Amino acid sequence: MTQTGIDNLAKEQRVFEPPAELAASANVKADEYDRAAADRLAFWGEQAGRLTWDTPFTDVLDWTNPPFAKWFVGGKLNVAYNCVDRHVENGLGDKVAIHFVGEPGDTRDLTYAQLKDEVCKAANAITELGIEAGDRVAIYLPMIPEAVVAMLACARLGAVHTVVFGGFSSDALASRVEDCEAKLVITADGGYRRGVGSALKPAVDEAIAKLGDASPVENVLVVRRTGQEVAFDQNIDVWWHELVDESSTEHEPEAFDAEHPLYVMYTSGTTGKPKGILHTSGGYLTQCAYTFHAVFDHKPDTDVFWCTADVGWVTGHSYIVYGPTANAATQVLYEGTPDSPHKGRWWEIIQDKKVTLFYTAPTAIRTFMKWGDDIPAEFDLSTLRILGSVGESINPEAYVWYRKNIGGDRTPIVDTWWQTETGAHMLSPLPGVTAAKPGSAMGPLPGISAEVVDDAGHPVGNGEGGYLVLTEPWPAMLRTIWGDDQRFKDTYWARFPNMYFAGDGAKKDEDGAIWLLGRVDDVMNVSGHRLSTTEIESALVSHPTVAEAAVVGATDDTTGQAVVAFVILRESAAESTDEHIATLRNHVAKEIGPIAKPRSIMVVQELPKTRSGKIMRRLLRDVAENREVGDATTLADSSVMDLITAGMKKPA
Ligand code: ATP
Ligand code: MG
Repeated sequence: MTQTGIDNLAKEQRVFEPPAELAASANVKADEYDRAAADRLAFWGEQAGRLTWDTPFTDVLDWTNPPFAKWFVGGKLNVAYNCVDRHVENGLGDKVAIHFVGEPGDTRDLTYAQLKDEVCKAANAITELGIEAGDRVAIYLPMIPEAVVAMLACARLGAVHTVVFGGFSSDALASRVEDCEAKLVITADGGYRRGVGSALKPAVDEAIAKLGDASPVENVLVVRRTGQEVAFDQNIDVWWHELVDESSTEHEPEAFDAEHPLYVMYTSGTTGKPKGILHTSGGYLTQCAYTFHAVFDHKPDTDVFWCTADVGWVTGHSYIVYGPTANAATQVLYEGTPDSPHKGRWWEIIQDKKVTLFYTAPTAIRTFMKWGDDIPAEFDLSTLRILGSVGESINPEAYVWYRKNIGGDRTPIVDTWWQTETGAHMLSPLPGVTAAKPGSAMGPLPGISAEVVDDAGHPVGNGEGGYLVLTEPWPAMLRTIWGDDQRFKDTYWARFPNMYFAGDGAKKDEDGAIWLLGRVDDVMNVSGHRLSTTEIESALVSHPTVAEAAVVGATDDTTGQAVVAFVILRESAAESTDEHIATLRNHVAKEIGPIAKPRSIMVVQELPKTRSGKIMRRLLRDVAENREVGDATTLADSSVMDLITAGMKKPA
């Protein structure tokens, strides 16, 4: 047997063809793949034409010093001008940019003309606070329009933003502020979560106090959202409504180099300490603009887009802020949780705002499956025409549920594989072109070069598993890890020569379609078989009683490692009896083979997840191997691990 990284076990046969009408009117047709492959750089040069350049670029790519890329060499542009001003100049000033829906039920629409005024006012205000091009600004806000305004205002000034999840602790905020030396923090008194005002400003105060004399922060700009009481230090704190609202709506955008830094975004921390990923201007915006147009088939005159991610995640950067606004899209921005005040809240918003393009994560879809089909069935979701998924592999069962219960069995699903590091979509079906298979990201988009390789870096054949790599640079690629070029080289470019290694396992099926198999760090080695977390988890989720599953490899005397599973049962499901556990173990053996049969299965109420909804398997591995639980600072809910550890200690 050749060692090709990861075994290929699952056999999914279902295929969904694009609807004929969509195929006929799609923005991107099948010929685009060949066109892009014939001359990749010319293709990206053409896509850069979606943007308005102040100074045209002379070369598409400078790759003379790999892995440090320069895209659109010599070109100059202003990112915010491209996302806002030019639409107003083109007569779209009255078009709604943002339909904001606050959790308590307040709503606010911002047209492109209003968005331009807000961005200009914020840019003037931030300038008054001493921020110049190249300075770093931390943004720690709830999902309110000011988050988008603040990001675009920074971009307009050439200031580098780093957005930190509103749900993160003061520790997480302090480490990010310190790492990128942010001079300004933009925050709010609080935001609404599950019906209550949840404070944010105190965490900023704590972070600054924690950093003490080492704190780089000179000012804190505070949006009043909830009206709750906050401490206010006149020396550094400034109210947004006092400074920004009083500022002028006139602001001249300056053109910056295509490689001018746009933002630093820290990765989710699923596999370890978050890395500060640096993105720059021209290439990043080009790929965000193109993929939004191509993957969501965005039609500016009729579509209403909604991405449910938080702006504190890269998905919120590329597919709430930069991709949609570069395309003059109308979109929904929602502040709260899916179950506040009721479990149909998202579907109600889709019905009210007539959303046509909807983008969310598998973790959310599995939650809705758990809550039951009858909830979405109460709402009119007939406006939807394309559904998207991002964050982890979508289990085939979840895909089929999503398509049927949300998409009325009519909408294509785009399963988009990408990372904080890649900046924009890399692998995905195209909704008007690809016959999609549930659970597969299918293949690289036009202009993107990806491969699945074995341990030696050679492409695997169809039906084989290995490692996902990117074989050519792409416009939205990270330029480095903030302040650490060596770590950038070591982390991504050292495993295989001349290739970017994403850290994910993948396989090609019999037709050459690519399936993501989970993190390489999480691959289990059972009696010499390299097993993927994704395939075993999907097998568990395919059992009608299981809502969610996570598997890890735990040391085992006989097999090297053994599969240990953690499952959440559906609300309608049976009790977690020994008999039921045996049924589930046998179900996995039947679905994908006896080698994958879990040694043990533990029924839990919740799984440890990052704020972006990804399962942190490394923490479960600590539990399964009876170790002290590792760094859990980016966990959404820190009490989850205590519950699981307590459950493990109970006699089996
Ligand atoms: P860290 O790098 O700190 O561990 P992270 O990898 O979770 O954090 P992100 O950049 O938010 O941080 O996530 C990217 C990862 O998410 C990918 O490497 C992949 O593992 C997973 N992923 C994203 N989209 C998909 C998808 N459509 N299918 C499969 N996996 C996906
Ligand atoms: Mg990662």
